[in-house]
Amino acid sequence: MRLKGKIALITGASRGIGRGIAEIFAEEGADVAVNYVSAAAKADDVAAYVRSKGRRAITVPGDVAVRADVESMVERTWKELGPIDILVNNAGIETIVPFLELTDDQWTRLTDVNLRGPWPCSQVYCGRAIAEGRKGSIVHIGSIQAAKVLPGRTHYAPTKLGLEALTRNMSAEVTPLGIRVNCVHPGLIETDMTDWVMKSPDLLPGILAQISVGRAGQPREVGTAVAYFSSDEASYLTGQSIHVDGGWAGK
Ligand code: NAP
Repeated sequence: MRLKGKIALITGASRGIGRGIAEIFAEEGADVAVNYVSAAAKADDVAAYVRSKGRRAITVPGDVAVRADVESMVERTWKELGPIDILVNNAGIETIVPFLELTDDQWTRLTDVNLRGPWPCSQVYCGRAIAEGRKGSIVHIGSIQAAKVLPGRTHYAPTKLGLEALTRNMSAEVTPLGIRVNCVHPGLIETDMTDWVMKSPDLLPGILAQISVGRAGQPREVGTAVAYFSSDEASYLTGQSIHVDGGWAGK
């Protein structure tokens, strides 16, 4: 029960890694606001899981790239669950497009969600928490691609490496005001985003050969690292980025 009594807002929690984080958070004692952008039924399912663990849950629709949506998500969470203690900036999208074929729209949408999105989410949350004199924690979800080059990701990879810089710089400004900021970089984790990789006999063996643990990870294995960073046990940890990747980045 490392998160007993804490209230968390997790973006993109209707599926995949966000769901894994929500499950672990509920098991560790947190109440959870489950953000999603389109999959309302899946978000309801995650909220039901949280409640099944005896914790409170709400679902909060909204696009992390739209400030008005973010303000509404934070406001509803504060009003219906109480003051947010933990923000997890997990929502993200990935497309694979060769550099020379990338369009302005593809670049803009992906960077808007993955890199710009965590900014309004963090700013709105921090503004309110700091004004009320509350302590808290933010965890950004980056990617192995902050450390490794994969084809067709010239737009995606910079968003994830950029989150490391966002983490360090935000930490320098808001940790003195009570909010720790860290980043977790997942490796290959089995979700809808990576379903095509998991099913690719051409790609998968080559990737697994680079992963010391020898397999893909599960969303809950990312969740446990995020829970640690978010807990009071990590009270002296801020501005850090860690790879939860079975040893892929280190090889
Ligand atoms: P996923 O299975 O595709 O799930 C994406 C989640 O993000 C869904 O809940 C989706 O909501 C939500 N979302 C997408 N765009 C959004 C937006 N604009 N506003 C709010 N929510 C939005 O992805 P995943 O694999 O769990 O990935 C989660 C995070 O981990 C991403 O940041 C991704 O880049 C990162 N990551 C994943 C892997 C991996 O191997 N899976 C590896 C490294 C990093 P809806 O369900 O409503 O569409």
